[in-house]
Amino acid sequence: MGTKTMTAKYAGTCTACKAPIARGQRIEWRRGAGARHVDCAKPGAPTGPTMWSGGRLVELPPLDRACKHCGSAMVWGALGFAICRPCEARKALEERMERLTRDYVSAGLGEENF
Ligand SMILES: [Zn+2]
Ligand SMILES: [Zn+2]
Repeated sequence: MGTKTMTAKYAGTCTACKAPIARGQRIEWRRGAGARHVDCAKPGAPTGPTMWSGGRLVELPPLDRACKHCGSAMVWGALGFAICRPCEARKALEERMERLTRDYVSAGLGEENF
C-alpha cells in the first residue's frame, strides 16, 4: 500500500484529526485510508484510519472488504462506519437532487397552478 505526500486537489477531512483539509494543503494520501495533514502523519500520530471513541482517537483496523453493491473497496468513513465511496457519492447526489426538487416544488416553481 503506497503512501504519498501531495497537495490536496480537493477539500476533504483529515482521517487523523478530523479537521477539514483545504485545497492546496500538504497532505499524505494512502490508498484505502484517505488523506490526512502531513503534520498528522508525523511519528506519534495514528498511522491508520481513526475514529473518535469515548473522547479519544482510536485506530481502526485496515479494511479489506468490497462493496456488495458495486464491488469497490470499502473505506472507513468519518463516523467510523465502513463506506463505499462511489455508493456514498451516488447517495449524496441523489439526496441533493431530491432536496433541490423539493425546494423547487415548495417554492411554487414546479407547479404552474400554485
Ligand atoms: Zn489532520
Ligand atoms: Zn458501492
